[in-house]
Amino acid sequence: MKIKVLGTSSPYAYENSACPSYYIYDDKLNILLDCGSGSHRFFDMQKNLNGLNIFVSHLHHDHYNDLFNYLYSAYALHNLGLINEKIQVFLPNFPNNIYENIIKEQNCYADFHTIDENLHLSIGNASISFCEIKHAKDVKNFAIKVTQQNKSIVYSGDLSFIDKDKMIDFAKNSDILICESSLLKKHNFPTICNHLTAYQAGFIAKKAKVKKLLLTHFWPDENANEYKLEAQTIFDKVEIAKEKLIVDLGE
Ligand SMILES: [Zn+2]
Ligand SMILES: [Zn+2]
Repeated sequence: MKIKVLGTSSPYAYENSACPSYYIYDDKLNILLDCGSGSHRFFDMQKNLNGLNIFVSHLHHDHYNDLFNYLYSAYALHNLGLINEKIQVFLPNFPNNIYENIIKEQNCYADFHTIDENLHLSIGNASISFCEIKHAKDVKNFAIKVTQQNKSIVYSGDLSFIDKDKMIDFAKNSDILICESSLLKKHNFPTICNHLTAYQAGFIAKKAKVKKLLLTHFWPDENANEYKLEAQTIFDKVEIAKEKLIVDLGE
């Protein structure tokens, strides 16, 4: 299993950066976690769109804006006879007006499915599971776990530190935790807000005993290395996500 990072910034894309998106793949696996603004630029549509499985953690624009680019590309490539397997889109059904707007899309070649905590999927040789983690009042956010043989990847989506215990349980002993860290201590947000600081992400990684923490979801104005340094004050196996970075978890 490999991860290719397609996006790490929020709330907007710029230059060579895009909003959150992570492509997980091997011979039989073709999974996209989130599709934030601008991230589809780093995805090979011609090669990998056929039968792509897209999981949206929550319906904030920085996590799903590019979904329509995938839907429309699947429509166009199918009409040209270039793809013959529909893309499969999994998303939360709250807020309902955004959900309905997406699944009503006509110019697409896709099936839509609702994510909830009871959903368990098998794709290729991997199993996929979900855990609802509090983030903001206007959305339902799901952390996503991809497990294959003895390797597991956990992605947090966005979250509030108020649900840290649930996040720790879900990420327990995973090989890699891709975790948002929108904030730094110096931003002086309350301890409990809609996002994590890099330190809080490190705290969760430490308690969950993950093998590696991949930090993401950075403010465009900040130097990503600051997030790494802050997380390393509590947990040392930290890496910074960057567009086009590939992480190989092996077989
Ligand atoms: Zn969000
Ligand atoms: Zn976000």
